[in-house]
Amino acid sequence: MTTPTAPDNNADHKVSNFLRQIIEKDLELGTYASRRWAGSPGDAAHHAAGQPDPAKIRTRFPPEPNGYLHVGHAKSICINFGLAKEYGGVCHLRFDDTNPEKEDTEYVNSIIDAVKWLGFDWAQLGQAAGSAAPYQASDYFDFMYRAAEALIEAGYAYVDEQSAEDMRANRGDFGKPGVDSPFRSRTVAENLARFREMKGGKLADGAAVLRAKIDMASPNINMRDPAIYRIRRATHHHTGDKWCIYPMYTFAHPIEDALEQITHSICTLEFEDQRPFYDWLMERLCECKLLAAPSPKQYEFARLNLTYVITSKRKLAQLVNEGKVSGWDDPRMPTIVGLRRRGYTPESLRLFADRIGVTKSDSWIDYSTLEGCLREDLENKAHRGMAVLDPVKLVLTNWAEAFGSDGYTEACTQPALPHSAIAEGQTPPADRTFQIGKEVWIEREDFEEVPPKGYKRLSPPKVNPDGSTSPGAVVRLKGGYVIECTGCARDAAGQVTEVHAKVIPGTKSGTPGADSVKAKAAITWVSVADGVKAEVRLYDRLFAEAHPDAGGKDFLQSLNPDSLKVVTAYVEPSLAGAQPDQKFQFERFGYFVADRLDHVAGAKPVFNRVTGLKDSWGQ
Ligand code: ATP
Ligand code: MG
Repeated sequence: MTTPTAPDNNADHKVSNFLRQIIEKDLELGTYASRRWAGSPGDAAHHAAGQPDPAKIRTRFPPEPNGYLHVGHAKSICINFGLAKEYGGVCHLRFDDTNPEKEDTEYVNSIIDAVKWLGFDWAQLGQAAGSAAPYQASDYFDFMYRAAEALIEAGYAYVDEQSAEDMRANRGDFGKPGVDSPFRSRTVAENLARFREMKGGKLADGAAVLRAKIDMASPNINMRDPAIYRIRRATHHHTGDKWCIYPMYTFAHPIEDALEQITHSICTLEFEDQRPFYDWLMERLCECKLLAAPSPKQYEFARLNLTYVITSKRKLAQLVNEGKVSGWDDPRMPTIVGLRRRGYTPESLRLFADRIGVTKSDSWIDYSTLEGCLREDLENKAHRGMAVLDPVKLVLTNWAEAFGSDGYTEACTQPALPHSAIAEGQTPPADRTFQIGKEVWIEREDFEEVPPKGYKRLSPPKVNPDGSTSPGAVVRLKGGYVIECTGCARDAAGQVTEVHAKVIPGTKSGTPGADSVKAKAAITWVSVADGVKAEVRLYDRLFAEAHPDAGGKDFLQSLNPDSLKVVTAYVEPSLAGAQPDQKFQFERFGYFVADRLDHVAGAKPVFNRVTGLKDSWGQ
């Protein structure tokens, strides 16, 4: 048994928007209080638990299983499931599988995973007790067929056998009313017989369509007798070869909503012009006694447009098919599987959806807003660790003299989270421990033989114009000892192969002598003794332009050539032992995640850069 989800106590603290206002008004007026299950065919399994609670709103998220979901869908999921949760209602995950050629169970499964991963469990939020299966449009094909016959019988639909070109030409355009089809005046009996022949496979694909009979002169082209059924001999991933006619999306969708007793059917703005047909169909089917009022109502919000990102399944498929990325889950993809592999968390995506809100006018959201939500989520969660991404060896030449032998190592400890990240009453996580020894890896950029003005990191002693010598720079190896730079070694090409320094004993972090010598800077490092080699994938934005597909330009031209750089790094032991999918803040570099698929704890560490510590694209 699943338990109903308690209303979200935070609902009061959320920013109001036009959808919340509509819902609150409907709840107050009891708009849907009289609804009862109509005893919907094919629906029994889902609603075994009985009548819906009239006090509950019911939303739905209706993806077409023809690709992987992207960040725009994540917004829609958060809105639909989120509103249901806030108002103690339910949300249906429903596959709009009316298009047999393009759909696939691979996509069905990926969509189920995505919704669950985002934190929405429709077994609790959307389904009657005991049923974990999502809804699917194809469950209602029988009902849809009956609805089509009922429309024919009531004179609201006809079988049109014009050629596709004639049909297009006769539809007219914005300035020109449509022209009635010669088949528009067929009798009910003739239409019914012909429609049954369509269903019975007597007509070729494309030879006829069933059209709603509305108004060929309507200023809204969607009301000029839209097609509601077409002939398509294709095997459906769910109904197999049972049907050779399939309902059009615009016809199927309102019926799916009605059968599932949806109250608020929330979709993106491009469906605004379809709303009159949605309402027309609901009224006609109530008139035919196939459905009962109150009917669901459609509400539109602005889709998510994100800079530097493409949110069209077709174009995303093109990136995959042309090998521009490694797959749907390439960490540069805006798909939910891609974002997940990149290191985004469900919390950060929900925060993002909240922050961008719901509006009725199209706008662009800056990519940095998404990254900001991730930083905000990980700031207090991701354990810190040190990694050296562009390593050069630092040798502490006086090590044996200071500590007795070249092989001596000493444990250093550092907090996994800074003090500021620990909430009151929360137990801090265990400290990280790593060794310091004679040799450590440091960043190549942390040594400059001729330091630019203001450079505070390692540089060798310098002979001044007056013949005196200034000592080498004094810096702290973060969490370890203070050291003084003495020089470097170079290869024949002049490349620095080793940096040399002296350790200053008694200055270790956390000991009484830590402050006895003043260091100008603290640099990150990883010891040669226990550092582990790691593959680090430095991901950046996939597109170099903010609007990659604006104005019909070829979006492939906007691909960022530097969206991936792979480096061999060294990481401290706490990072090397990460679990796949575990997130970290690599000190000074930003947020990284152990790759879900390729990382093997200890043996083969692989990290993806999620995002830097600050927005570097803003300027
Ligand atoms: P695409 O245009 O990428 O093919 P779609 O709209 O065809 O997407 P569907 O599977 O039909 O994909 O979408 C399911 C739901 O997600 C719909 O209700 C749709 O309105 C919503 N949705 C799709 N893209 C976005 C977006 N960019 N922002 C918000 N919601 C979206
Ligand atoms: Mg769609």
